[in-house]
Amino acid sequence: MGGVNYARLGRPNNTGTRIVCVSGDVQRPGYFEIEVGAVTIGQLIYEMAGGLKPGRKLKAIIPGGSSAKVLRAGERFKLKQKQPDGASIEREMSIDEIPMDFDSLAAAGSMAGSGGVIVLDDSRDMVWALNNINEFYAHESCGQCTPCREGSLWMQKITDRMLRGGGVTEDPKTLKSIGGNIAGRTICAFGEACAWPTQSFVEKFPEEFAARAQKPVPPALPPEYTPEELIEAESIQAVPMAHDPGWEKAGAAGLI
Ligand code: SF4
Repeated sequence: MGGVNYARLGRPNNTGTRIVCVSGDVQRPGYFEIEVGAVTIGQLIYEMAGGLKPGRKLKAIIPGGSSAKVLRAGERFKLKQKQPDGASIEREMSIDEIPMDFDSLAAAGSMAGSGGVIVLDDSRDMVWALNNINEFYAHESCGQCTPCREGSLWMQKITDRMLRGGGVTEDPKTLKSIGGNIAGRTICAFGEACAWPTQSFVEKFPEEFAARAQKPVPPALPPEYTPEELIEAESIQAVPMAHDPGWEKAGAAGLI
């Protein structure tokens, strides 16, 4: 097949083929070569990848590698699709009906990205899933830009703390704020890559993040003291802080 014929495959503006990798909660994970946009997410999961595990329901899809924004099952998506004659038609569709092409996944609020499709069924804890992703990005940040170096680690520390039971009510808001202060403020696209999972997981699954963020916001940091005041250190009250294991111990003991 020559270049001209190859370019006839796929959908307008999304031509050719791609190899996608389906992993996660499917019966037949693996690599599949698809004609771009000729296969929907539903066909990819239920026909090519063998469907979900017995008795399970679809919870979410990450359609283009771990940095792609997560799509929640049950959402409705309004997509404008370019037709062969150049016209655009808007259609509302379910997650299963979204074509696996660049324009459609971008219009659905995510991206085709690397083609790494991660399928999550209803057995998955989304805070756990995000923490797993955050661990990867915190580890992989090269450290050159402060927002990425610090922010990826902060996000990971917060989701880790939420999993361990130390989440505070401000955590979902803080996670979104950190993500917002990384994306667009770094040298390379890794900044967006590490921010988008956190931003989208918290936005799409607010109830799961709220459930893990039950403790009251910790008290304000103590004021800074002058050297003279520090001489009287014994009179200064110690206040446990959020990043201090003492905060969690005090919380567990019902002192906060
Ligand atoms: S955004 Fe890129 S260059 Fe900057 S710290 Fe992250 S990985 Fe390094």
